[in-house]
Amino acid sequence: MKLVRSIKEMAALSKKYKGRGEAIGFVPTMGALHKGHISLICRARKECKIVVVSIFVNPAQFGPKDDLKRYPRNLGADTNICRREGVDIIFSPNREEIYPKNYKTYLAIDDLGRVLCGKFRSGHFRGVATIVTKLFNIISPDFAYFGQKDAQQAIIIKKLVRDLNMPLEVKVLPIVRERDGLAMSSRNTYLNREQREDAAVLYQALRMAGVLIKKGSRSSKEIIRRMRLMILKKKSARIQYISVFDLKEFKPVKRIKGKILIALAVFFGKTRLIDNMIIKA
Ligand code: AMP
Repeated sequence: MKLVRSIKEMAALSKKYKGRGEAIGFVPTMGALHKGHISLICRARKECKIVVVSIFVNPAQFGPKDDLKRYPRNLGADTNICRREGVDIIFSPNREEIYPKNYKTYLAIDDLGRVLCGKFRSGHFRGVATIVTKLFNIISPDFAYFGQKDAQQAIIIKKLVRDLNMPLEVKVLPIVRERDGLAMSSRNTYLNREQREDAAVLYQALRMAGVLIKKGSRSSKEIIRRMRLMILKKKSARIQYISVFDLKEFKPVKRIKGKILIALAVFFGKTRLIDNMIIKA
């Protein structure tokens, strides 16, 4: 396994693999790898001759009040995981390599970037789309693997690839959860014991919504109300949003019909967690 820091070296390696006709599978991450990331790496390992994992905490997707400084970084442990999982290349450039002085170009995401998380994290998806596009250009993957954990991100990236005619396929894999249902996240390490216990309520609330819908409930307002009540029973929880979204239109729905996405963001103390579930009525 190679640890690559420079764009030039990464691009040269990709060119070499492509010249040999070897498929490149790419897993973009911000490091502090856990089983959620590993599920993406495993799938890439199965499907592609060459697996590249990027580890880069992207400043452009953090707002001024976000946790950029304290975001967990552990390249040593991440390297061990990648080696164990059969990764070929870790691409981990430093900040100046990606955003040199006088960097000027960012991608604008239309209305898709202004709803759900985008409403509360202005500029977040602009940062995500920019880094992902840069990494795609450097690595030239044939396949790129993303998690359903970041549902809106996955939708935006799929759209980006289609809209800008990028020659690769995006694959979105299911959410990997802890035993109590909490979606795995690098940010879970911020939680204290009480917050960690409380956070399991997110999955419980999503499952309850699923049961209500299966039983015939069709009012988004009522489902959100029931979810709010359940989540707010936990002392450390503060809800940022709960939304029921139509997956085709990507707009909030009042009456549930067909396949919908329930997405939420909830703070436990200072830690903001997101989760979601796709439910078919
Ligand atoms: P991050 O390092 O948080 O930027 O995540 C890198 C990739 O891993 C993204 O595509 C995430 O959606 C995905 N990911 C993070 N957590 C999970 C999880 N619990 N299950 C599945 N994929 C995940």
